[in-house]
Amino acid sequence: MIRAMSGRRTAPFLPPPAEVRGPTWWGLGELRGWREAPRLRAVAGLWLAATAAAVVTGVLNVTLGWNGVEFRVFELPVAVTVYPPFVLSVLLALWLGPAWGALPIYFANLASALASGLPFPMSAIFAVAGVIETLMLWGSLVVLRVDPDLRRGRDLGWFLAAALVAAVTGSLAAILWNSSHGLDPAAGQRVWRGWVIGDLLQILLLVLPLLRLCGPAVRGWFDRRFVSPPQQEFSYTHGVGLIIVAFAVLGLVVFLGVHQALGSIEVAIDARTVDGELLIPKLREIILVMALLSTALIAATGMFSTALARMGERQRHEARRDTLTGCLNRRTFAELYAKEAERSRRLDLGVGVLFIDLDHFKSINDEFGHAAGDRVLAAASRRIEGALRATDLLFRWGGEEFLVLMPHTRREELGVIAERVREAVGAGPVQSSSTSGGLGIAASVGAAAAEPAPDDPRDLVARADRAVYEAKAAGRNRVVVAAG
Ligand code: GH3
Ligand code: MG
Ligand code: MG
Repeated sequence: MIRAMSGRRTAPFLPPPAEVRGPTWWGLGELRGWREAPRLRAVAGLWLAATAAAVVTGVLNVTLGWNGVEFRVFELPVAVTVYPPFVLSVLLALWLGPAWGALPIYFANLASALASGLPFPMSAIFAVAGVIETLMLWGSLVVLRVDPDLRRGRDLGWFLAAALVAAVTGSLAAILWNSSHGLDPAAGQRVWRGWVIGDLLQILLLVLPLLRLCGPAVRGWFDRRFVSPPQQEFSYTHGVGLIIVAFAVLGLVVFLGVHQALGSIEVAIDARTVDGELLIPKLREIILVMALLSTALIAATGMFSTALARMGERQRHEARRDTLTGCLNRRTFAELYAKEAERSRRLDLGVGVLFIDLDHFKSINDEFGHAAGDRVLAAASRRIEGALRATDLLFRWGGEEFLVLMPHTRREELGVIAERVREAVGAGPVQSSSTSGGLGIAASVGAAAAEPAPDDPRDLVARADRAVYEAKAAGRNRVVVAAG
């Protein structure tokens, strides 16, 4: 009979969305305890070796005077340099996380700048540009949700765009390098072009094939060594921060680049335009206009991207929530379940589910009206939420049915949590204008758990669903935990 009744409630699960794996997020803190854990020792050793290799090759680059391969692009001389620390850092950032790539490039750039004779303060500033470039590429791929294995054409396209932006923002380093080494503007121009094209070519010819060929294997290797989940949503603030930093640096590069380009034109101090005006003040005016335009561009982009991101954020929030109760809606269950199940499996724990159905809810509607029923639903959801742990997720499953997804939960814990929820729902009448004494409510709760968390949650939810019907059949306002 219970089975027949539960058939009334269809449970059409959306298949989990195609998993989009962006670049990973592991922080360096993951290495804590590496002395005791052999799986982490291998990662720590590898990363330290890569950092040392970045520093050594960075210094060699300068001490051997490696100025790259010279060739001409549209009559312009360009020196393309291969800079191993850059390639290493980008790969580390995309495969492990931003901090893993940022530190090696910083130390390598600092060491190479010091080796070239730059004083420490200038070297310390110069080295930041490499960090910006690495983080710019990593952050752009996260914001654009690009899978760094680059299997799809869409991922490849965004990767090329991100590479261009990263290479141009990173060329701030070239400008700092030129001015601190006192290079004449024409030579500086060559270095700048070579820097941008060199970084682009390195990304395209070295980083891209390595990501495509070794990405899945390397990421799988790291996945087996870390416990916590690598995937997180890039927050709205991070996204806007990235866009503003990108445009601020690009604007600075444009401004300084134009300044340098104009400086490379050798004109007599009293050279004049065709109108007979002095040329040099005119050139200064052009720089001023460029500065104004790029500042306006930065401000506009920051402003509009903030507005767009905010609208997107609001829409996403609204699409995931039920308007009456503010609970997550049923559509989001498949996606969130896939994430939570993966997390629970990594921690070697199971998942639990509570199915909560308000008792005799229809009679509240019938006696006091739909509006009173709505108020009861909102109050019930707040009471349930208050009885849950921070990691539990509350969904409005249907009319007066709620579902709680409880990650990292064992079957033995279910009874206590379910009982707490049942008591919270029935804790006193809900205030209502329809009746002075308020509206008394109660709920029947069905609970089920699975360990390890299954890929497909249908059976788990169906077991909790059947448990609710058992609770109803046994007299309502009670908890039934499904047999393991
Ligand atoms: P049981 O104890 O067996 O669960 O009885 P019940 O009356 O709670 O169960 P039933 O499923 O028969 O009734 C659910 C009612 O919930 C029917 C429907 O009108 C009402 N309902 C569904 N969605 C909403 C809503 O958004 N607002 C209000 N006010 N009522 C709703
Ligand atoms: Mg119902
Ligand atoms: Mg009901």
